[in-house]
Amino acid sequence: MHGTRILEEADRLMTVCNSCRYCEGLCAVFPAMEMRRAFSDGDLNYLANLCHACGACYVDCQFSPPHEFNVNVPKTLAIARAESYAAYAWPRAFAGVFARNGLVISLIAALSVAAFIFGFAAVHDRQVLFGVHTGPGAFYQLMPHNAMAALFAAAFGYAIVALVMGVRAFWRDIGEPVGMKTDAKSLLQAFRDAGELRYLDGGGVGCFNEGERPEDRRKLYHHLTFYGFMLCFAATCVGTLYHYLLAREAPYAWWDLPVVLGTLGGIGLLTGPAGLLAAKWRRDPVLVDTQRYGMDAAFTMMLFLTSLTGMALLLWRETAAMGPLLALHLGVVFALFITMPYGKFVHGIYRFAALVRYARERQMTGHS
Ligand code: SF4
Ligand code: SF4
Repeated sequence: MHGTRILEEADRLMTVCNSCRYCEGLCAVFPAMEMRRAFSDGDLNYLANLCHACGACYVDCQFSPPHEFNVNVPKTLAIARAESYAAYAWPRAFAGVFARNGLVISLIAALSVAAFIFGFAAVHDRQVLFGVHTGPGAFYQLMPHNAMAALFAAAFGYAIVALVMGVRAFWRDIGEPVGMKTDAKSLLQAFRDAGELRYLDGGGVGCFNEGERPEDRRKLYHHLTFYGFMLCFAATCVGTLYHYLLAREAPYAWWDLPVVLGTLGGIGLLTGPAGLLAAKWRRDPVLVDTQRYGMDAAFTMMLFLTSLTGMALLLWRETAAMGPLLALHLGVVFALFITMPYGKFVHGIYRFAALVRYARERQMTGHS
């Protein structure tokens, strides 16, 4: 007996697949499945998060609908995966709220914070909001640096605590049979697999989006999004070092390192999420969890809006539009941080943890 209906279905499918084994070369899910004879809830959540939703096993399967076995591994694991985000979320009460309304909640949070900063500045001193400010410290006319740093450190700190609590619960649940400890070799292998998105190519042919012809663009869009995010994070870290170590205040010149990193990252975060959203829109509904489009799309959309408002701020930072644009950008970044532990962001973290477990299992069973 499993905790949910979808885990019951995932168990049924894994039992069918374990007898068939036709797809064992496609990705990590099938070899990991073959190491088991029975599946606990933790095992199924592990397999669900190991799946990259490439769709290849649906297209290749002789038992997919209309066959009476009704085998649809990508969709079943997508639903199990989404439910696992809620099951491991911290605090639990917030998880369900985001499942269907993720995009609306994220947008309301972003606009609320932006409106608060905008209103506060407008009431306090309209000239600060609509004036032209240039040179070091221009951004802090709208909001003092310490207040800005405290607000975002609190939001980021909350996101980190919630994410750590979630991944801890996930890791505990998927712990058997190899135990809780991991090692450097497994970690390195997982970093390599995650960095290359190794299992997002249907065993080498590409990802299935619509129809039966594979294409590889989802992998490209994922790469643009991931490396765009990392470059923007690096830009923020360098900017923080500039501020505290070199006493150099933002905004910086276009050729300065934080701006170069932020611009390259921003381009990645515009093109990657736009491509992912378009691919999601076109994707065959038979492969995806159509009930949770909101949660799925929310994080991708927030990344896109973070980049869009950041790039607009870069372009118009020396005009009277700077104040309203900065308020909007800060609102979007704040909303991105506080919604991160309850949306699609966690899929990257749980998937990485699943890849570490997989590398460890292979090592212990002599497969690597
Ligand atoms: S998805 Fe279909 S073809 Fe692939 S292993 Fe499972 S039952 Fe076999
Ligand atoms: S959808 Fe792709 S990654 Fe997921 S189980 Fe099937 S082949 Fe593996």
